Amino acid sequence: MVDAGPGTVAALQEVASAGDLHALVVSHVHPDHCSDVYALFNLMRFGLEPRSALTALAPEGAVERLAAFLGAGADHDFHRLFAWRAVRAGDRTVIGEIELKFGAADHPVPTLVTRFTASGRSLVYSADSGPGGDLSAMASGADVLLCEATFQGDSDPWPYHLSAHRAGELAREAGVGRLVLTHVAPILDPARSVAEAQEVFSGPVEWAAPGMEVVV
Ligand SMILES: [Zn+2]
Ligand SMILES: [Zn+2]
Repeated sequence: MVDAGPGTVAALQEVASAGDLHALVVSHVHPDHCSDVYALFNLMRFGLEPRSALTALAPEGAVERLAAFLGAGADHDFHRLFAWRAVRAGDRTVIGEIELKFGAADHPVPTLVTRFTASGRSLVYSADSGPGGDLSAMASGADVLLCEATFQGDSDPWPYHLSAHRAGELAREAGVGRLVLTHVAPILDPARSVAEAQEVFSGPVEWAAPGMEVVV
């Protein structure tokens, strides 16, 4: 499970049991990426058969902030049910058959760009990022770039996110096989975001609609 924004644990349970998760990756501690850590925690604590601690990877400082909301001291179930591990840009780890490599996003809190590789195929998830940081290098040659595209048009109201156009440019420059746009602001029409990315990237572009399945 990669990021735990609101509604994701409910969506997960439509297709799998949370008890079968191998690992959780939290890209950063903005609530649209981590608020369901608490839903998952409660589910594991009260709603599932006992299981071994779930590997949980997050940027430095994240677990302290997440635990603070619960008032969770060192002996709290939050630290027993999750095996938290802080990761930094440049770190690598293997979960099952998938290798994870981490980079730093261009965002105002520590945020992980993650590249997932298995059987020679790779997916890169931007998390929240402006155009700087490690995103471009991490995305190089990826089969799928799952990229944030918060804005549309020429508006750049905040430098730590991307427009769909900029996401398309990143996809082109990185030579990715396919671009999937996510994190489109809720008030925007995703079809327009896809069209704006297609103006600069000639490969397939889609919007990450809820329930969408992607074969990498
Ligand atoms: Zn964010
Ligand atoms: Zn976000």
